[in-house]
Amino acid sequence: MSERRKLAAGNWKMNGTGADLSEIDALVSGHGDAGCEVLICPPATLITRMVARADGKIAVGGQDCHPAASGAHTGDISAAMLKDAGASFVITGHSERRADHGETDEIVRAKTEAGWAAGLTVIVCIGETLDEREASNTLGIIDGQLAGSVPDAATGHNLVIAYEPVWAIGTGKVPSTDQIGEVHDHIRTRLEQRFGAGVGRTVRLLYGGSVKPGNAADIFAVPNVDGALVGGASLKADDFGGIISALD
Ligand code: PEP
Repeated sequence: MSERRKLAAGNWKMNGTGADLSEIDALVSGHGDAGCEVLICPPATLITRMVARADGKIAVGGQDCHPAASGAHTGDISAAMLKDAGASFVITGHSERRADHGETDEIVRAKTEAGWAAGLTVIVCIGETLDEREASNTLGIIDGQLAGSVPDAATGHNLVIAYEPVWAIGTGKVPSTDQIGEVHDHIRTRLEQRFGAGVGRTVRLLYGGSVKPGNAADIFAVPNVDGALVGGASLKADDFGGIISALD
């Protein structure tokens, strides 16, 4: 058995109201006994209600957190608040946050540390733009984001890395399995170099970017792909269930 438990993670982004919690009921009844870990990161307004419906079968996470534990930050949410609401994970450094909110590696690192301080497992997102790939700079960008966004206290339990090429998110474009494999192998090597083999081998590496039921099995067959971070196809239990089945 692999030392890394597979993870199917859904990111609902700014989608979903109470009516959509029926999708969680369908996921629980269809995939509540999946061998892989299943996680949904809904809007913060749904976390408490989703936790109640998930019946301990599906983990629930936040999509972002503030670096500070509390204070005068109108509209923000702290990692401790996510934990208190029942979350066990938080995403940091999603490319939409890096683009929409100017989040730098330094900010992502501080948010990741805040997540750890609250006892959350943090999914740190990294990935190149199309321009960076076309300039043959993908691995350099990955190196910079890994070094800048991931704090020193990483373990196989508190850290998950999501490799999400920006040009593949929500576009229907997916890198070749060779391209995914090259980046995931590179990330694994860098983690082992920095944190030692014990930690480096146990951190889970997710691929994210236009994963669908129809392409999931090919992506999951790539070495060092331990699961997926899924946006659009996580909104409906039928679609996400197909991805869970491909991972299981
Ligand atoms: C994402 O936003 O993390 C993502 C991977 O989106 P999609 O699956 O829709 O490409």
